[in-house]
Amino acid sequence: MGSEEPSGNRIDMDRIALLGSHQNQLTSWLSSHPEGHERGAIIFFRRLGRKVVGLPHSERFVSFDIELMDDDWILDSSEVHLRINMRKLPEMYFRCETENLVLGFVHSHPSGVLHFSRKDDINEENLIHGLAGCNGIHSILVSIIYCDGTWRGRIRTGKEPNEAKPVRHISVLSDKLELHHITESKDSPESLLRQEAAFGKPFNAKMGSLRAAVVGLGGTGSPVATMLARCGIGELVLIDGDDFEETNMNRVRGYKSSDVGHKKAESLKKFIDDLGLGIKVIAFPEFVGDSGEAIDSLSSADVVFGCTDDVAGRDLLNHCIYYYGLILIDSGLTGFIQEGEDGTPHLRDHRGRVSCILPEIGACLRCQGIVTDMKLKYEQAIKDRPELADLYPETLKREHYLIGGGNSAPGVGPFTSMTADNALATFMNLIKPYRRLPSDLRQDNIWVDFVHMSIHSNEPAENPDCIYCRKKFLTLKEENYRLDMAKLGKISNV
Ligand SMILES: [Zn+2]
Ligand SMILES: [Zn+2]
Repeated sequence: MGSEEPSGNRIDMDRIALLGSHQNQLTSWLSSHPEGHERGAIIFFRRLGRKVVGLPHSERFVSFDIELMDDDWILDSSEVHLRINMRKLPEMYFRCETENLVLGFVHSHPSGVLHFSRKDDINEENLIHGLAGCNGIHSILVSIIYCDGTWRGRIRTGKEPNEAKPVRHISVLSDKLELHHITESKDSPESLLRQEAAFGKPFNAKMGSLRAAVVGLGGTGSPVATMLARCGIGELVLIDGDDFEETNMNRVRGYKSSDVGHKKAESLKKFIDDLGLGIKVIAFPEFVGDSGEAIDSLSSADVVFGCTDDVAGRDLLNHCIYYYGLILIDSGLTGFIQEGEDGTPHLRDHRGRVSCILPEIGACLRCQGIVTDMKLKYEQAIKDRPELADLYPETLKREHYLIGGGNSAPGVGPFTSMTADNALATFMNLIKPYRRLPSDLRQDNIWVDFVHMSIHSNEPAENPDCIYCRKKFLTLKEENYRLDMAKLGKISNV
């Protein structure tokens, strides 16, 4: 008889994430015993998801490396049991200790029972006792079973070795976002019934188990954030250091005239709280590059929406994908205005981009040419000498600067909103794939051209040496500082 899991608020529970390549490696191993016996593997996890004041504490364990349990590991096995050689474990404990990794143990249930058994309880208790004996009582054991294409997981700690803690979900980050082991509530709230009609009942439960961060809360960020709340996201982090200005009013959602002069993040949090949808929202009225806590909140998110208009901010988010095993959905607009002889502006080009990048799939923002050293240099030059922004653009080009946004850049509500909606639709497509993209469109880079009303993708630069998306660093390891940048401060509350 399987041991029962305590019921309760799943929001307070931790999350497990498997990279798609790890899932593939594991499923082919776990399901291929020649006589149909149980098989096992060790998974090393990075422990991410630092504490965020105001949100439920929910750590993220992101898979980092795998050790398949070959014959050396196995004392005996059958279709319903697996006895492993405990002498092999100290080596694994040692690696966890020296590389600051969390130990995971996964085994298959070829019999088709997707529940932890009494035997599993006993095995896990032995494992965590051994681990805590070597590495201390703060040790953590992630235990996973695999059965018929799905995953189920739970967690034990050295402090309470006899208590198996259920997890919020197990996510698989491939070219989509699979979510396993979600508890569906009996009924979706009435506000989400029409969405359920399109995507099915699990979709709403999946949305409710996810934490999203929105960085930048202007023309694209505010529609993304408010629509995420309406679509039933579980938790929402809002990050923007700017005050709301009257010139923003033509293209935002959720702000009122009385918000002018107040922090965007705080005003938008209040708006979303007042919707009364039960979404947990926190606001960081700071720029993401100035706030260690905001970076910590990104480490705790499942998905980040990049809606900033600065290149340095985007560069940081690009780092976060690979350090924290995140999904980044970045959006931005570009345009070109030609002035007629009488000074009338003509919109010659205006396009909105959505880049959807997962840790192992998609070209990063550097390879997409969204972040370049030249753009970063230009942006910094304008910061240092604001008068440069008033120079004629051709002069800037000659001096090797690129043309950035700036305060007088065009901003038209329908175009920013359409880009925001495309960002959110792209996110939904990760959870419940519904798109049938033509062969010339890439999931990681979609542009909507508002002038010619066409949709296209750009090819990424061929950079086999890109340290982010090409070297498959998966989850990079921070040493002392957040994202290894001293200005973001020391990591304090892992
Ligand atoms: Zn078992
Ligand atoms: Zn790259």
